[in-house]
Amino acid sequence: MARVVVVGAGLAGLCSALALADFGHDVTVVESGPAPGGQLRYGPQPFTLPAVLRDLFRKTGRPLERELDLVPADPAARWVFADGAEVAVPNASPSGTRRALDDAFGAGAGAQWDAVVAHGDRAWRELRPLVLGHTGAKAPRHPQTLRDVAASLREPHLRAALESYATRYGADPATAPAALTVLPYLEQTFGVWTADVARLVEVLAGRGAERGATFRYDAAAGAPVHDGKRVTGVTLAGGATVDADAVVWTAPPGDLADDRRRPFRRRRDDAAPATAVRADPTQAPELRFPAGGGPAISWYDAAGGHVHGTAAGRVTAIFRRPGNVTRIRGLYLAGAGAHPGPGIALVAQSAAIVADDIGRS
Ligand SMILES: Cc1cc2nc3c(=O)[nH]c(=O)nc-3n(C[C@H](O)[C@H](O)[C@H](O)COP(=O)(O)OP(=O)(O)OC[C@H]3O[C@@H](n4cnc5c(N)ncnc54)[C@H](O)[C@@H]3O)c2cc1C
Repeated sequence: MARVVVVGAGLAGLCSALALADFGHDVTVVESGPAPGGQLRYGPQPFTLPAVLRDLFRKTGRPLERELDLVPADPAARWVFADGAEVAVPNASPSGTRRALDDAFGAGAGAQWDAVVAHGDRAWRELRPLVLGHTGAKAPRHPQTLRDVAASLREPHLRAALESYATRYGADPATAPAALTVLPYLEQTFGVWTADVARLVEVLAGRGAERGATFRYDAAAGAPVHDGKRVTGVTLAGGATVDADAVVWTAPPGDLADDRRRPFRRRRDDAAPATAVRADPTQAPELRFPAGGGPAISWYDAAGGHVHGTAAGRVTAIFRRPGNVTRIRGLYLAGAGAHPGPGIALVAQSAAIVADDIGRS
C-alpha cells in the first residue's frame, strides 16, 4: 500500500482519489477550498465520451446510471447567428444534422458538415492512442489549422460554427489545430450528455471516502517535496509536510513550474490566448455567433484562466501539455492543465491514466 497525496478535489482529484483508494492505497486529498468540486461548481456542463466516467463507476462499485441520470442533450447544441439564422443541431444523429443544416442553409450544407465530421473521424483515429493513453504515444503532426479546414467550407455560417470549436475555448482558429474537428466528430458519434454535476461530485467524494480516502479541506498545498529524483511528500501552506510515496497534483501545473527544480519545462504557450471573451457558459449548449464569426463563448475567462491550463491555442498544443508522469518518480500530474486536456471526459481520463500507472497496492 502506497501513501498517496492528491492535491485538489476537483474532478481530477476526486476521480484519482476514488480509483487509487479502490486500488487499496492510503489516499489523502488536500483541497485549498472548503468543499470538493472545483470548476464543476459552475453548474451544468454538457460533455461527450461518457464511457470514461462509466468505466470509473463500473470498476469501483455500482454503475454510473444507478447513481445519477445521464441525460442526452436535446438538441446537442443550438447555433444562433447574428443575422437571425438558427439551427438546433440534433444529438448523435448524422442524418438529422444533415437535414437540419440543409433546411437552414440550403441543399448541400449538410454534406459540407459531413466532410468536417469525416475529417474529425480521421483525426480521432490518429489521436485516440495519444488522448486515451500515455503521453509517450506518438501521433503524426499536421501543419493544418482549424481555419484551413473552415476555409474549405463554402457556407459562411458553417465556417463560423466550425471556428467556434476554437474560440469557445479562448483559442484562435488561425493557430488552433485542424484536429479540433475531433470535437464535432465525438459529439456526433458518442453524443452530448448532461448530468447533475453537484450529484456527480457528491457521489465521487462519497465513494472515495467509503473506499478509505481522507479529505482535508481548507488545506492548500505549497509544493511537492522531492530530491530531484523521487517525491517524498507535499508541503502545506502552513508549513507542515504530509509524507507520501506518490503525489497526484491536479492544481494548475503552472504553480509547479515556478519551482527551480521543476519537473517539466514551462511551455511557450502557457500564456493566456488573446481571444478570450466573457460569456455565461452555464447557458451552454446554446452557442451564439456574433456578426463576423468572432469568438462566441469561452470557458476560459470564467475561471480566471485556469480552465485549460496550458493553452490549446497552437497547432502543436496537444503534443505540448505536461504529461501525466513526470521525471520525478512518484510525482504525477492530472487535471485540465495536464495531458490529455480540459473538459469532463479528458480530465477524468487523466485521472485514469495516473491511477493505472500507479497501479494496485
Ligand atoms: C464555466 C465553466 C464551464 C465549463 N463547461 C464545460 C462543459 O460544458 N463541458 C465540459 O466537459 N467541461 C466544461 N468545463 C471544464 C471542466 O469543468 C473542467 O475541465 C474540469 O472540471 C476541471 O477539473 P480539474 O479537477 O482538472 O480542475 P479544477 O476543477 O480546477 O480542480 C482543481 C482543484 O484544486 C484546488 N486547488 C488549486 N490549487 C490548490 C493547492 N495549491 N492546494 C490544494 N488544492 C488546490 C482547487 O480549489 C480545485 O478544487 C467548464 C469549466 C468552467 C469553469
